[in-house]
Amino acid sequence: MRILLTNDDGIHAPGLTVLEEIAAQLSDDVWICAPAEEQSGAGHSLTLHQPVRLREHGERRFSVTGTPTDAVGLGLRKLFADRKPDLVLSGVNAGENLGDDITYSGTISAAMEAALAGIPAIGLSQAFRDRGPGFDAATAWGARVLAPLIDVQMAKRTLVNVNFPPLAAEDVKGIRVVRQGFHDYSRGSLVEGTDPRGRNYYWFGLQDAEHTLDHGTDLEAVEDGYIAVTPLQLDLTNHSAISDLADRFVA
Ligand code: MN
Repeated sequence: MRILLTNDDGIHAPGLTVLEEIAAQLSDDVWICAPAEEQSGAGHSLTLHQPVRLREHGERRFSVTGTPTDAVGLGLRKLFADRKPDLVLSGVNAGENLGDDITYSGTISAAMEAALAGIPAIGLSQAFRDRGPGFDAATAWGARVLAPLIDVQMAKRTLVNVNFPPLAAEDVKGIRVVRQGFHDYSRGSLVEGTDPRGRNYYWFGLQDAEHTLDHGTDLEAVEDGYIAVTPLQLDLTNHSAISDLADRFVA
């Protein structure tokens, strides 16, 4: 099995080393093509207004001077023209990707780009808390979570989002398959200041985002100490709203 690893924290991120350890338990044909710099919050953006460069860091190890989407897209076109990867893993992100984090997430978007290309794709994220156990849960549980997912025949344009709780490995309670929850960043924190030239600046923070711990959601599962596994689809259509809107255009 050929596995491509990528992320949004950049090729030098500690979480990518964790992902390499996990992938090594699954295959010996593991490649890396990750952004050269941190791209958290880049979402599914594609670099269109400047060229991107592919750098070789070692055997099967490459970086791209662009977004996570660029890294996957360029990797698939240039590195795997002959034989595509069988699986793309993105992460392990330093921080959770729960609820509406997903649309901001470069980690998940890299997996989306692979899913668009018809390749099974899984995003992995490790929730952090202050002075928590770091990547302990992801390191110990990663291969265990991935093994049953590898043979699953997913529907087209479907990917899987995995989040590890901020707990020591032995304190993780298990694995739950759950739906995406709700995370509202629109009223999240905003830092204001003045730059050295006297101009105002603003800096988005991630604190104070509202979220609900509805039953059966990824947010609730991680809060309860479980690993959250959520199948995601790229079709964002709200199918139940189609007939309502269509009725408004009837002459
Ligand atoms: Mn990140």
